[in-house]
Amino acid sequence: MKSKIYVLIGPPGAGKGTQAKNIANLKDFVLISTGDLLRENVERKTELGMTAKSYMDKGELVPTDLVARMIKANIKANIGKNGFLFDGFPRDLSQNTLLGEMLKEFDLEVDKVIYINVKDDAIYERLTNRRVCPKCKRVYHMKYNRPKHDEECDDCKVSLITRDDDKLDVIKKRLEVYHSLTQPLVDHFEKIGKISRIDGERTPREVEAEILSVI
Ligand code: ADP
Ligand code: ADP
Ligand code: ZN
Repeated sequence: MKSKIYVLIGPPGAGKGTQAKNIANLKDFVLISTGDLLRENVERKTELGMTAKSYMDKGELVPTDLVARMIKANIKANIGKNGFLFDGFPRDLSQNTLLGEMLKEFDLEVDKVIYINVKDDAIYERLTNRRVCPKCKRVYHMKYNRPKHDEECDDCKVSLITRDDDKLDVIKKRLEVYHSLTQPLVDHFEKIGKISRIDGERTPREVEAEILSVI
């Protein structure tokens, strides 16, 4: 059977990472999160990571060719699996063209794009209170999704961290980038009838239930 290809799109802080991890587990999909992959490279201080970091710290997109290399290796290694869930890729029209080309090699195409929408004003509160587990990458929020023990991952028992790019000025820049480069991609998928729009300003459970109902 052909692998199903799903893409999660939404502004920074929409809840993509939170949902992606759960959905991939529940549906046994291969999760490809470019943000997590890039941050892993930054941590390991690879050449790719060092170059990527300078863009990430400013809230700009990392050049597509760098991201493309990571993605391609990942698709190839997992071909034949149940399905793929992309979180954070494609991020603009050119990356979408590239993804189309990569998938075509395996006679695959994007089946559906899940667009999680959250308004800009809610995003600042979400991102300034976000914490992540450095080990398993699980996402927490100090108000809406607290860890059981103060600032410690429930699963790994290690201290949670704040992402370097979750600072007000960088969040602002990421939102600008989102509106100018990613929003046109949403419009494109809308035009070709592949979008399911989901209101992200509800509880994580409600958002999850709606995603499950469309995939
Ligand atoms: P993204 O991957 O889209 O940037 P995250 O999944 O990291 O978003 O979520 C951003 C922040 O918002 C995190 O702190 C997360 O715990 C919190 N969050 C995620 N979904 C919701 C929700 N439905 N309601 C309130 N807060 C949420
Ligand atoms: P968020 O959804 O909260 O913005 P991500 O983890 O998806 O966070 O992305 C964090 C940063 O990593 C982005 O601001 C960008 O610099 C880089 N990045 C992630 N995915 C891509 C991509 N597909 N293309 C270019 N840069 C990316
Ligand atoms: Zn953890």
